[in-house]
Formats: sequence, C-alpha cells, structure tokens
Amino acid sequence: MSRVLIVGAGLTGSVCACLLRREMPNKVSIVVWDKARGAGGRMSTSRSPSDPNCTADLGAQYITATPYYAKTHRSFYDELLAHGILKPLVAPVEGMLMKEEGLRNFVTPRGSSSIVKHYLRESAGAEVCFDHHITHIYQKGASWEVQRKGGEAEHFDAVVLTMPTPQLLQLQGDVPSLIEGGPRQKLESVSYSSRYALGLFYSAGVRIDVPWAAKYIADNPCVRFISVDDKKRNVESSTSGPSLVVHTSVAFGAEHLEAAEKDVGCLVLAELKKVLPGLPEPVSVKVQKWRYSQVLSAVTDTPGQLTLLPRPLLVCGGDAFAHSNFDGCIASALKVFEVLKSSL
Ligand SMILES: Cc1cc2nc3c(=O)[nH]c(=O)nc-3n(C[C@H](O)[C@H](O)[C@H](O)COP(=O)(O)OP(=O)(O)OC[C@H]3O[C@@H](n4cnc5c(N)ncnc54)[C@H](O)[C@@H]3O)c2cc1C
Repeated sequence: MSRVLIVGAGLTGSVCACLLRREMPNKVSIVVWDKARGAGGRMSTSRSPSDPNCTADLGAQYITATPYYAKTHRSFYDELLAHGILKPLVAPVEGMLMKEEGLRNFVTPRGSSSIVKHYLRESAGAEVCFDHHITHIYQKGASWEVQRKGGEAEHFDAVVLTMPTPQLLQLQGDVPSLIEGGPRQKLESVSYSSRYALGLFYSAGVRIDVPWAAKYIADNPCVRFISVDDKKRNVESSTSGPSLVVHTSVAFGAEHLEAAEKDVGCLVLAELKKVLPGLPEPVSVKVQKWRYSQVLSAVTDTPGQLTLLPRPLLVCGGDAFAHSNFDGCIASALKVFEVLKSSL
C-alpha cells in the first residue's frame, strides 16, 4: 500500500484526500499534515472564546458558482447541498457585484470550514494531524523523507503540497534544487493580495441593527466588507450572540502588513465605528492577518498542478494553479488526483 502525504488541510488538500479515498480504496494510506491548529486554511471559521456556538468566517464568505462550474463541478455542488453544507444565499448583500449572468451564490450554515471538514470526514481512515509544520523534504531512493518542526521525520511514497506558493518556496532539503530554473520562476510569478479580517463576537441577546446581512463598502480606505455572519448564513440563533466579520481593503492590508496585529485591530475598529456608528461593544475581537489572501495572478501554462518530480511523486496544487475560489481548488484537486492516480 502506498503512503501519500498531503500537506495542507485546506480545501485543495481535503478534496485530494477525499478523491484518493473514494477512487483508490485500499490502495493508499493517506496522511494529511497542517501547521495550523485546525482544518480550513483560508476557508477558516473562528469561534468566540466565550461561546463556541458563536462563529465567524474570517476567510471565504460565499461560494459563487458560474454557469460553467455549476455544470462541470455539479457532483460537488449536489453533494454539499444534499448534506446541508451549502445553502443558497437568500439574505440581502448590499453592493455585491454580479460580474456574470447566471451566477448562483451559496452560504455555509455551519461556517466555511464545514466544507473542508466534510471532505476530511469523507476521507475515512486518513490520518489528519494538526500542528505539523513541514520544513524539509529529502529524496531517499524511491520515497520522500519529510521533516517537520519539533517532530520525527517520516517517509512517504508521494507528497502533495497545497500551501500558498511563497510558503512552498520556503521549504528546504531537496526542494530548492528540484525547483531550480523553470518551476521556481513559475512559483515566484504567483502574486497574492493581502488583507486583514476581524471577527467581533457579541453576547447572546445583543442585536446588530442593520438592514443588510452583508455589505461592501466603497468609500472607506480601510473597511471593504462587513458581514453579520449568522444573518448571512440565514441561521439566526436565540441562544448565541451574533458575530460580525470585517475585511479590510487590499490597499490597507498592504500598507499595514508588518504592523502589530493589536495596533491594526484598533485602527480597523476605529474606522468601523465611522461606518457603523452606534455599533455595540463586542465581548471579544479576533484579528487575522491574511498575508496570502487571494491569488491575483496564478501560475500560467500548468493549470491545476505542477509536478516537481514524477517518481517518487512530488506535486503541487492549490488555488495558485487555477484560480482563487471554491471551483479553483476543486479544479486543482482533480488535476492533482489524476497525477497521483497515474503515479501510484
Ligand atoms: C479574506 C478571504 C476571502 C475569500 N473569499 C472567498 C469567497 O468568498 N469565495 C471563495 O470561493 N473563495 C474565497 N477566498 C479564497 C479561498 O478561501 C481560497 O481560494 C481557498 O481557501 C484556498 O484553499 P487551498 O486549500 O488551496 O489553500 P489554503 O486554504 O491556504 O490551505 C493551505 C494549508 O496549508 C497549510 N500550510 C502552509 N504551509 C505549511 C507547512 N509548511 N506545513 C504544513 N502545513 C502548511 C496552511 O496552514 C493551510 O491550512 C477568500 C480567501 C480569503 C483569504
């Protein structure tokens, strides 16, 4: 049985694990390692420290299906809708641009990380480990030795890397020599926006009195998007307090990228008060820096995946190899899976 390591428990990694489990049952032993403390990656859902039922999506907000992907990835949409992981967006969102005819928007009643958790659950038997930050990869004959911070090195027959490309470029061991030349240029050509996200958590009984569930702000240099998360998800609870998500503009994110998160939090809260005067005081605030938020320019001419070595297989995937949303990750995972299937 081949042992496959998937690095990253975000959407791309979890879909790769699920495809391997479903399409190659009993042929592979699947291991997923992520440096974070939980699943989701940039589809992350944070909990209020005082109430685990009060949550906020700090990364992805909606899943938007174009007519092309609604058809091409129909089985993925049907499955998530059948499990109640996705529901149509029905709440009012002010200022949302519909860039194309026939777009369908979906929300996640249990938070955006529930999509990733669904695919990890469907990868039954996969060994999923958090707090596993990989640093070095060495080729040892027909396998890979993978080293991580503060842990024992382990051996795998194939390795899939799904982290943002700047994090991939930091890997040591044999990776720098493997990517020398063309691959390095491709990986370095990927660019990302940066922004901050704040999650404001409130006590039960507090009301956030606004006529929308989410709103895009066009005339503030700092605040770009606000969402009352349970309203956006159409699941208002009587026992938990509401949460508010604030995304900053990309320009603000770039300008304050190296500032202390605490100081950035104060700046954003001050701007938020100008946009929403009279907003109640939250019980807690979480500040999330997205250094690598959304892909601005993806790797061209290797759509979906980039194979660094065919045997033993070392392959990269993720939104950097397609485009930065749900369908980009699914498209990449499908391409990575094709490569895995022919290699194993
Ligand atoms: C603020 C924001 C808003 C967004 N809005 C939307 C939206 O509305 N709709 C939409 O469809 N998409 C949206 N996106 C984009 C979407 O979230 C991403 O395209 C998608 O989540 C990328 O998934 P991924 O699995 O490719 O990468 P990631 O989610 O980044 O997963 C990579 C994982 O690798 C892990 N990792 C990194 N380095 C290492 C290492 N050395 N060792 C171990 N693990 C490592 C990370 O912890 C991470 O969990 C948004 C993103 C952001 C940040």
